Amino acid sequence: MENTILFADLGVSDEILKSVEAMGYVHPSAIQAQSIPFLLNGEDVIGQAQTGTGKTASFAIPIIDLVDPNVNAPQALILCPTRELAVQVEGEIVKLAKFKRGIHSTCIYGGESIDRQIRSLKRGVQIVVGTPGRIMDHMNRGTLKLQEVRMVVLDEADEMLDMGFRDDIEAILSETPEERQTVFFSATMPKPILELTRKYQRDPQIVKVLRKELTVENISQVYYEVKPSLRVELMARLMDLSNYKLSVVFCNTKRAADEVTEALIAKGIMAEALHGDLSQGQRSKVMAKFRKGTCSVLVATDVAARGIDVDDVEAVFNYDLPLDEENYVHRIGRTGRAGKSGAAISFVTGRKDSYRLRDLERFIKTGIEKQNPPSVAELVELKKEQVAKDVYRAISKEEDTQLFEETIGKLLAEGLTIEQVALGLMKLQFGDVMKDTKEQNFDLELGGGRERGKRDRFERGGEREGGRGAIASEKVALVLVVVISLRVQVWPVMRTWRVCSSA
Ligand code: AMP
Repeated sequence: MENTILFADLGVSDEILKSVEAMGYVHPSAIQAQSIPFLLNGEDVIGQAQTGTGKTASFAIPIIDLVDPNVNAPQALILCPTRELAVQVEGEIVKLAKFKRGIHSTCIYGGESIDRQIRSLKRGVQIVVGTPGRIMDHMNRGTLKLQEVRMVVLDEADEMLDMGFRDDIEAILSETPEERQTVFFSATMPKPILELTRKYQRDPQIVKVLRKELTVENISQVYYEVKPSLRVELMARLMDLSNYKLSVVFCNTKRAADEVTEALIAKGIMAEALHGDLSQGQRSKVMAKFRKGTCSVLVATDVAARGIDVDDVEAVFNYDLPLDEENYVHRIGRTGRAGKSGAAISFVTGRKDSYRLRDLERFIKTGIEKQNPPSVAELVELKKEQVAKDVYRAISKEEDTQLFEETIGKLLAEGLTIEQVALGLMKLQFGDVMKDTKEQNFDLELGGGRERGKRDRFERGGEREGGRGAIASEKVALVLVVVISLRVQVWPVMRTWRVCSSA
């Protein structure tokens, strides 16, 4: 159905109308259209919505319109489970408040110097976004006063409870004036959340985005049946074939996330783990690398991945199927953002997984299509095409080639033929595919009819590879530099080749 509601229909200020226009928001999203009028009306709200639905603006817009710029004290408090989410939420507030005078916000979270935060609080802010632990810290130091707070928002409340913030949340809510507005946003509504809402909210309005709106149409959802021990191999092949620039791999445990990261690195893939055992500083570093593309694969657990707001993720891999359906939707929502298309690829490793997949399909009301793992022969064919394209791309670039010509000249002077030089470069370009061809009898598909001996050999191969991880990862950087530069180096080879063969 066409969305005909306008922001102007929701009773927001002219300044907000200007900022949403500047941000390119044409229509309010479903969760915004439903919750903004209640919140502007002073009511409590329970919003069941996930990241990607526009939930941040659902509470940020009313907050900006409701706070009094003439009162220089915190009037709205937004609690977030992670620093990343807090930073994102505050970023959205700053953009939405651009045309409002005298509105100031700040973000306070653990892992950052408390002095900067104290200074920003002292300057006078009306909107405070932060993680519960650090907010408690400021409350206890007396650097954050909550007497003027009129609205408290718990963003991703289920995650905050999962992360053990319940006591802090209750302590914070108890410190704020009772006549405040209390708002819960949560992807799921488990019992502990409902208990909290009963305890701290008054006649809340419940708003939900319909499930069918949760899965995005521009995400292709497929699954592969694969032996558990061959998932990394299959993932590496799929990444190689599709050339995904950024992808996120989901694991159900921190340990699996670490192991998968190591195994991918051993295959020459620039992967980083993102999970709850990392400090805030480490997480920020990993996220910065991912945003810059210096790490192309993020291997994450569900909790750690919440709040990742990167628009260019091309594929999401469910290395482990998620334990609940809501998380599946949450996971695949990491891709296909900002109108781009995305791929959600799940691995089914046995009967239990097959049942779980059926449950997922029922939940999202969409079929997830089965795919056959690409065979080594297909991989080689596709790689050939890719390399040929890369060569054409490289030779079409106008640039100074002196350096390459000198290198080729040196190799020729040492007695190599031009064919040998080109072959060497090709070998490097083909990389792992060459290795795979040696193992081309191995079928990745679950129950693919391979006899036991072969599978065992493959599995042992996998272990060996893991063992070589340290050496391989040392080589990765070097090989990548060479391979990347080869994209360009191939051109003089081709040119000289042409010159030689036409001579
Ligand atoms: P959120 O669910 O708050 O994380 O928002 C997901 C993405 O949707 C963010 O990149 C927002 O900037 C964007 N967004 C939020 N509201 C709208 C809207 N009404 N129209 C278009 N994009 C939006």
